[in-house]
Amino acid sequence: MEKQTEPRRLSEPEPLQAPYFEHLDQLATTLSQKSQQQLVFSFREYNEFACTQCGLCCTLPWAINVSKAYYEQWNAHWNQHPDEKYHNPFIVLPNAKDHDFAAIRRQPNSHNCIFLTEDMRCTIHAELGEEALAKVCRRYPRTQKLLPAPYAVRYMLPSCEAVPPMYIAENEVFVHWEEDLNLPAGGFHANTPPGELVSPLMHRWIGIVLDVLADPHHSPLQSFARLSFALNYLQDLPLPRIDAQALRRIYRELLNHLQQPADIPLIPRSQHRQSIEWFLGLVGHRIAPIRAYYQGLLSGELPWPELAPDEQVLLNRFMASYLRRRLITMSYIDVFFGRINLYQQFFAMALFAQALQLFAIQARAASGGPLQPEHLYQATNQVESRMGQRRQWLKEQNISGLSPQECIDYAITSLSLDFGTTQWIVDD
Ligand code: SF4
Repeated sequence: MEKQTEPRRLSEPEPLQAPYFEHLDQLATTLSQKSQQQLVFSFREYNEFACTQCGLCCTLPWAINVSKAYYEQWNAHWNQHPDEKYHNPFIVLPNAKDHDFAAIRRQPNSHNCIFLTEDMRCTIHAELGEEALAKVCRRYPRTQKLLPAPYAVRYMLPSCEAVPPMYIAENEVFVHWEEDLNLPAGGFHANTPPGELVSPLMHRWIGIVLDVLADPHHSPLQSFARLSFALNYLQDLPLPRIDAQALRRIYRELLNHLQQPADIPLIPRSQHRQSIEWFLGLVGHRIAPIRAYYQGLLSGELPWPELAPDEQVLLNRFMASYLRRRLITMSYIDVFFGRINLYQQFFAMALFAQALQLFAIQARAASGGPLQPEHLYQATNQVESRMGQRRQWLKEQNISGLSPQECIDYAITSLSLDFGTTQWIVDD
């Protein structure tokens, strides 16, 4: 449903403090008394971004949808344009709604928007100014996750080429309060059934995630895999018993668990074959050099890539920022009852992280090495445009058919291939 009023900011963004669980536990407790208020997570880059007008986002195969009001405002204008290629610029959607009414047409035999010129400029922007752009074009890559919950996230989509470089520069999470009159009056927080993370339980879960990722003794992929401890714990609880107390208990157990140094099994290289095969399955037949490279690694024709310590530092720093943003912004709305639950999201996110790493390692090999930030940026753009912004992707992978235990086990297998550490790879 489209929002009626814009939320009103009640406080300035402040850095979230570690230990994150404790800070968020305290904020979530306050939140349960605040009707129609929500806690907004954001990253610094959201407010500091400036579009480079590269035009690349106007060539990708995602929907550029406009509202009915936008369609009615501009359809006649473009139909009278002296250049006929701009006539009939919109295709009305089969299930058109007021806020999601029509899609901007593409150029023949391409994903390029019809308003994109040969020198990658936008005709709407050039002739009518930024104000005439559709909302999605004006906002991209800024986006926000607004949920029917006391929780929102403002972030940047890393499918835009200007965004990944900001990940290395900035990793801090900010929080502030907003009043949102579109939320149900009377405060629904207290009425949320136990077990649904749409309640303030979600904040506490995010606190657990951020504390696990901040563990300095493990690589980001290892830390991500260690979240399986919390998921196993959660899996054993009946839904009505998943409440704030249960999450506090999980957090305490997890802290003890994280202090044990050697709980990560050494993974034989044969299991890395599975990670690479899943990745090749995701990539499909479309990217021949990537397939050729990994098939060469699997057959032993190509040497196994070994990253130098400073390359590992770069990879881990970027991966930590990526996972931090990805795990805060993933959809927690239907984690137990919906199309894809928390465990399935965990596995999907493991595949995303692994794909990012493998795209970057291939880019490093193609360049002759060493690993550069550009390899990570390109890899992020690849992952996000191919997987992150294609709604069909989760369906195609049939992840919604997996049990919680399968998701946890598969995620650990996928994450076992980790170029960010030398401690976790052994030969068969
Ligand atoms: S309308 Fe302009 S900004 Fe929007 S996708 Fe088309 S070319 Fe890009």
